[in-house]
Amino acid sequence: MSTLITGIGSLVTNDPGLGAGPLGLVEDAAVVVDGDRIAWVGPAAAAPAADDRFDAAGRALLPGFVDSHSHLVFAGDRTAEFNARMSGRSYSAGGIRTTVAATRAASDAELDANLARFLREALRQGTTTVECKSGYGLTVEDEARALRIAARHTPETTYLGAHVVAPEFADDPAGYVELVTGEMLDACAPHAKWVDVFCERGAFDGDQARAVLTAGAARGLVPRVHANQLSYGPGVQLAVELGAASADHCTHLTDEDVAALAGSRTVATLLPGAEFSTRAEYPNARRLLDAGAAVALSTDCNPGSSFTSSMAFCIAVAVREMGMTPDEAVFAATATGARALRRTDVGTVTVGARADLLLLDAPSHVHLAYRPGVPLTAAVWRNGVREV
Ligand SMILES: [Zn+2]
Repeated sequence: MSTLITGIGSLVTNDPGLGAGPLGLVEDAAVVVDGDRIAWVGPAAAAPAADDRFDAAGRALLPGFVDSHSHLVFAGDRTAEFNARMSGRSYSAGGIRTTVAATRAASDAELDANLARFLREALRQGTTTVECKSGYGLTVEDEARALRIAARHTPETTYLGAHVVAPEFADDPAGYVELVTGEMLDACAPHAKWVDVFCERGAFDGDQARAVLTAGAARGLVPRVHANQLSYGPGVQLAVELGAASADHCTHLTDEDVAALAGSRTVATLLPGAEFSTRAEYPNARRLLDAGAAVALSTDCNPGSSFTSSMAFCIAVAVREMGMTPDEAVFAATATGARALRRTDVGTVTVGARADLLLLDAPSHVHLAYRPGVPLTAAVWRNGVREV
């Protein structure tokens, strides 16, 4: 079964060989979807016939968003904490530990339903690929369970036992690292593609982070790192040295950190929802791009510090606050997001790619930043199936 999507006013392919600029823009375009793949891309006037036909009526079509950083296996809610923070009141009810307690207490079915609900919410906004981390269990069984549940919904599962030191190990962080690199890793590795660590003051230092990432890598998990979010530190350098797919946050970078990223395969993934939701200083995307680093955008969706599943929101903030052009932000939310997951089958609209497509209620992808907060999803296809 093939479908011709025609009348596309502006098509983002992310392939400069197919059209103008880095986004490979094609005007008056058409796309043929055959099964779960893209079978043809080009000017509408030259499009081949197909079994079925969809008229885009002059609107913009782009690859589905690739959200390469989220924390969606959790239970509970932290509205009060956010409200206190935004109201200038102090809040002492434990932050992440609140989510850990609620997650441990939840049933498998509750966690699965919660995850499915957020993935559906993201899909309605055009996100067709989502990476999902553990990290709210912090016991062998609870971390393994989080990854088992996540793996039912996405192949992009990340073992984040080293999110924070588990409360039971508050006086023995070294003992916790031993657990994370030993028994917990054994239980989690079969369900995970990636290994991640929160390398930050108050979480895990450079030596501990190295131990976690190298242990994971020895089990076939590819590293990615929560790096340089709240302060300067060793996270970015460690990510580059260990060949991590991505260094995430990158808010506090030295010139050496920027140069290291620019000279590596490691993507700098920026998560503006976190700075927005904590009233913190945004990362400087312009500085990274000008140095030649690959920059991705992602939501960091989690109940504590960034409770948004909207890639369009992240694009708008990145353009307004982080020095990105609209073209760069859209590329970062699609093609470079795919690169941060080492995926070549998503993030582009090219022959052979997965038919993951977002049709906007707008004539151009620029509207994602130009019309902030406006729901612009007209249709979403995932694996060739119209979902929205
Ligand atoms: Zn995160």
